[in-house]
Amino acid sequence: MTERRFAQFKLVLLGESAVGKSSVVQRFVKDSFSDFRESTIGAAFLTQTVDIDDTTTVKFEIWDTAGQERYRSLASIYYRNAQAALVVYDITQKASLDKAKYWIKELQKQANSDIIIALVGNKTDLQDQREVSIEEAQSFAQGMGLLYFEVSAKTGQGVKECFKQIAVKLPIEE
Ligand code: GDP
Repeated sequence: MTERRFAQFKLVLLGESAVGKSSVVQRFVKDSFSDFRESTIGAAFLTQTVDIDDTTTVKFEIWDTAGQERYRSLASIYYRNAQAALVVYDITQKASLDKAKYWIKELQKQANSDIIIALVGNKTDLQDQREVSIEEAQSFAQGMGLLYFEVSAKTGQGVKECFKQIAVKLPIEE
């Protein structure tokens, strides 16, 4: 019988306040959603595992950072030695994509050079309020060499898949 392999990785969430970072984490870790969430102060830490195949389990240490301006300088403490980053924006708020672009630049300047970055458009349940097209975000992500996902923390659509896709990209030692 082959033994199960376990690998642990640090993943950080970045993005403007209220785009749904904590909600995405909540959906992934607890498979739940709440319309009323308290703002994250500084950063919150949670873990969750993903089985990527019959023999390999990846454990994510998830650091959910606060989006507020006053915590911006703190964020580098969290992404400095992260192996993966989810940069979240809200598909119904075009300005939140601009903020995501800022965080991607920061990561590319200051994080590990081999960090896996995923751009994540959240709130796909609000299609009638969409301000950013899939094509626009996807072509931006492609140009920057990022993974791209659209999810809804509210319905759960795409959330598990997003973390799994990141997990399979992470370097797991034999
Ligand atoms: P954060 O500040 O980025 O961590 O954002 P929160 O997770 O606190 O979410 C901000 C607000 O957006 C809350 O009222 C959430 O209930 C709401 N929200 C988060 N994700 C979704 C989603 O997928 N769809 C909808 N409709 N609302 C969402």
